[in-house]
Amino acid sequence: MEKQARIYVAGHRGMVGSAIIRKLQEEGYTTIITRTSSELDLRNQEAVADFFEQERPEYVFLAAAKVGGIMANNTYRAEFLYDNLMIESNIIHQAYKTGVKKLLFLGSSCIYPKLAPQPLKEEYLLSGFLESTNEPYAIAKITGIKLCEAYRSQYGCDFISAMPTNLYGPNDNYDLNGSHVLPALIRKFHEAKINNQPTVEVWGTGSPMREFLHADDLADACFFLMEHYNGELFVNIGTGEDVTIKQVAELIKEIVGFEGELRWNTDKPDGTPRKLMDVSRLHDMGWKHTTELKEGLERTYQDFLANEVLYVE
Ligand code: GDP
Repeated sequence: MEKQARIYVAGHRGMVGSAIIRKLQEEGYTTIITRTSSELDLRNQEAVADFFEQERPEYVFLAAAKVGGIMANNTYRAEFLYDNLMIESNIIHQAYKTGVKKLLFLGSSCIYPKLAPQPLKEEYLLSGFLESTNEPYAIAKITGIKLCEAYRSQYGCDFISAMPTNLYGPNDNYDLNGSHVLPALIRKFHEAKINNQPTVEVWGTGSPMREFLHADDLADACFFLMEHYNGELFVNIGTGEDVTIKQVAELIKEIVGFEGELRWNTDKPDGTPRKLMDVSRLHDMGWKHTTELKEGLERTYQDFLANEVLYVE
């Protein structure tokens, strides 16, 4: 991508999109195009068509999506399916119509079957049943992958897909009903510490395992793929290492400095038992993450403290 190239980052206010913008700015890109959701409703076919006609982006990072943690996914099942299908269909189709040179679509590790062998290799896609709590989201993301593959094979579009593992970092969602586990626990432990509460409720049994990648590492990997990858098969992005929810809860407790007890609420779902990515293809291409979990969580807690007013309304 030339430094003056017109680059559209869809979803620039979210954790992933904002990390991609930081990366592009760091690399000296000058023509980054963005729209907030109130300026452009990506679910609206006509509005997206007009936007692409007007702005004519040359490169697209498709990081716009309706996202959330286990409760949000399981509760707003229709919205997770409809919104994500519309967003990705509209953007991918208009990118084709207006001759976008390259597009990167971002999915999620939940596209893999619930009981797939671990670590998850790209070829395990569609080899078994999905985890039910996030099936609608997963179906939408699988459709996004298939759109990129189909537009590549029928029309020759250079559209690639990347599947990140669980992410964390600046501009995460700290709303306790909608958030993922790391921001939820940072907020809960912090508030319990401030209010001298003796216990913090943690969901499930603590035995599921998750892999976590810092959003800045993800942005770096997306940029790397945009520059160096143009294959049909999507690419996993992760660290290749995972921890139990219990381990990560203890780690956040220590970083925040909460001295009380954890109370495990097993009425809340565990979700999928494990989803560790096989990142050997990405490693073979020459990319590896640089932020380890402890350091990344310490940075994320500092970011939470600095932006608490914004994050917790
Ligand atoms: P998932 O990776 O799609 O399952 O999404 P989450 O990040 O929301 O949840 C990961 C795991 O953390 C699940 O086993 C949750 O039950 C567990 N967990 C423990 N405490 C919390 C919490 O306060 N919020 C969330 N979202 N998950 C929690």
